[in-house]
Amino acid sequence: MTNRIEIVDSDDEAECADGLVCARLTSPLMMPDNVIDLCSKCGEAIQLRPDAPKRPPKICNVCAEPLVRAEAAKGELVTMITPTTAAEVAAYLRKKNAH
Ligand SMILES: [Zn+2]
Repeated sequence: MTNRIEIVDSDDEAECADGLVCARLTSPLMMPDNVIDLCSKCGEAIQLRPDAPKRPPKICNVCAEPLVRAEAAKGELVTMITPTTAAEVAAYLRKKNAH
């Protein structure tokens, strides 16, 4: 296998992910309408998009890093991103960089 990034455009596919990596809580939120939840591993407060997949365990970026590194070292890392998320992040970065 090889590490890869997949654009998933079906909610069902996104719901089948092994985990959802989320940023820890920031003030202000990274995006104003982010939803606050708790990391399923360490219990720290995290933030995620309101339309993020519901089923996968939410894992903060700190807990996820060693897991992601281990998967990548084995060549088994599959990163999924939805077109909605990609578009939102692109719009956010455009707006942020315009200031
Ligand atoms: Zn955590």
